[in-house]
Amino acid sequence: MSLVTRFAPSPTGYLHVGGARTALFSWLYARKHGGKFILRIEDTDLERSTQESVDAILEGMQWLGLDHDEGPYYQTKRFDLYKEVVAQLLAEGKAYKCFCTVEEVEAMREAQMAAGEKPRYNGMWRDRTDHPTDKPFVIRFKNPQDGVVVIDDMIKGRIEIANAELDDLVIARSDGTPTYNLTVVVDDWKMGITHVIRGDDHVNNTPRQMNILAALGADIPKYAHVPMILGDDGKRLSKRHGAVGVMQYRDNGFLPEALLNYLVRLGWSHGDQEIFSKDELVQLFDLDSCNRAPSAFNTDKLIWLNQHYMKTLPPEQVAKQLEWHIAAQQLDISQGPALTELVKAQAERVKTLKELVEVSRYFYEDFSEFDAEAAKKHLRPVALEPLQAVQANLAALADWSQEAVHQVINATAEQLGVGMGKIGMPLRVAVTGGGNSPALDITLSLIGKARSLARLNHAIEFVKQRSSE
Ligand code: GLU
Repeated sequence: MSLVTRFAPSPTGYLHVGGARTALFSWLYARKHGGKFILRIEDTDLERSTQESVDAILEGMQWLGLDHDEGPYYQTKRFDLYKEVVAQLLAEGKAYKCFCTVEEVEAMREAQMAAGEKPRYNGMWRDRTDHPTDKPFVIRFKNPQDGVVVIDDMIKGRIEIANAELDDLVIARSDGTPTYNLTVVVDDWKMGITHVIRGDDHVNNTPRQMNILAALGADIPKYAHVPMILGDDGKRLSKRHGAVGVMQYRDNGFLPEALLNYLVRLGWSHGDQEIFSKDELVQLFDLDSCNRAPSAFNTDKLIWLNQHYMKTLPPEQVAKQLEWHIAAQQLDISQGPALTELVKAQAERVKTLKELVEVSRYFYEDFSEFDAEAAKKHLRPVALEPLQAVQANLAALADWSQEAVHQVINATAEQLGVGMGKIGMPLRVAVTGGGNSPALDITLSLIGKARSLARLNHAIEFVKQRSSE
């Protein structure tokens, strides 16, 4: 029998880090075992579900490369099926109509709380047949009253819940719409889900869902409840901790490879290995080696992974991800180096793709002002002679290659009998506007001859002007 997992988000917000990790674990488990990964949008909460959230979830999944084999299914399109199942349970005596008013249920709860008991529905309509014909009703599942439900959780281990702890759950509201636990059960059953991998905030629903599945004669899937993610401060990860939506990480300049690698390590390990390619993960991932304890988010580690992938992925691949940031920062790259070349020159020097674009404008755009600090330090009267000499030598260069530029700079230092420092920094400030750039030969070769010479002119004028003041 082939393995089927699913990711079943409620579209009430972004695809957040916790959801993305759950999706990743389900995806990996399916891929590892050659199974099927289904995407199911649980949009039955009409008030809180939005199309925007659906789009954000799909976008996030796509950005992370978590492709699904079936779906997306939408629960709102499956109401007829849920109604049929509710009718079937009712017909078989496995569910019943409950005519309690909201006030009655409330009074029941209050009395139980006052008596120090756990508030729960007391089953008062479970066996009654004197049904009124003119009153609204909900439909409740007839939960077994004895015995225990055992979850053999693939992450948390064995969990036992006494049926006496569970009351008769509402499976259809008075307007006939199905409730959350019913829709999940019907879908897991009809979609042939073999492994339910989800956040452990659902662990309380599981025994109820297992009972309903059993009543339907359905196969009970295996369950794996993934512990929650905590923020740096030990509290449950939330908006307070900054970026929570997956696409926010894209916007902040992270590579999907880095975020995926980061997410998988939140709750899963393989010895002390930290770096995993996607292919490697598909081979190595297993639910047995998932952590039972919550894991804490660590932004420094994510940054470290991002730097790793910026440096080690094929530059073409990084360049592809850079395009979005070029557009976001409105940088016109029609004049200047190809993005692949830019990545080769800058990837080692920055933490994120966003930063890469921020510090690379001078490759594409001219500037009229120098960074004040750098100019003050390096475009002084003593820099005039070296700048003029290097400009003359560069102007004579026919082949504007990295090696040729390199030789010219060295030869100029020799010619003037000065150290590289006397030429290098003024030259850097002249062509980039500031004091930070990759090696000069690379920088100049990427900026191009005409632009470099024009900028040198501009710097020479600046120094002259300054000398005369
Ligand atoms: N729709 C639920 C959620 O987003 C997940 C349900 C499940 O995985 O069973 O929390």
